[in-house]
Amino acid sequence: MVMFGTKSASGKCIIKSVWEGFRTVGTRVDSARLLWHPWHIPRHSFVLWLAARGRLRTLDRIHNGAVDQRRCVLCRDQDETHNHLFFTCKFSTEVWTGVNSRSQIRWSHLQWPQSWEEASRTFDNMKNPWHRVAGIVIASAVYHIWKERNNRMHNQIFKSALSTRDDIINNVRERLANLESENQLPNELMQRWSLT
Ligand SMILES: [Zn+2]
Repeated sequence: MVMFGTKSASGKCIIKSVWEGFRTVGTRVDSARLLWHPWHIPRHSFVLWLAARGRLRTLDRIHNGAVDQRRCVLCRDQDETHNHLFFTCKFSTEVWTGVNSRSQIRWSHLQWPQSWEEASRTFDNMKNPWHRVAGIVIASAVYHIWKERNNRMHNQIFKSALSTRDDIINNVRERLANLESENQLPNELMQRWSLT
């Protein structure tokens, strides 16, 4: 069973199984908190908001019939869907691997809409700075993966997964470094993002 894990403030790992997620099926998930929390980056949250609803113009939605026009431009290996683009694509997987080590995000092998719901349930305490940071990271990763996809498709500009990861890390660090002074970040979080 693939798990979706989080770390408590004490650093102890708390594992929530996929089954725990299933247990709450039927209850409405409030994902707005994770999208629009006080530290969110508006342009990132907007793309995530569209992605969370499956509303980005991915190739599977544009080219229903033409198979050869649906290839993912990040890997050229699979058809582009929301689920592929943000999860199963080897490019995106490399990006997530690079940012997960700094955050508490551990994606399960659920499909994209269920994974987003699971994240919304896991990081639902916006008084917890780790949860806010998880929201920033998820939104930033989705934004930069989508941006890289668009740059390749429309501008023939290519960045590596590592370079995309660095853009995400820089955006998150920049946001955290510019928080209003009343926001005190835990030391471990500061260290994780090289802010000390
Ligand atoms: Zn791909």
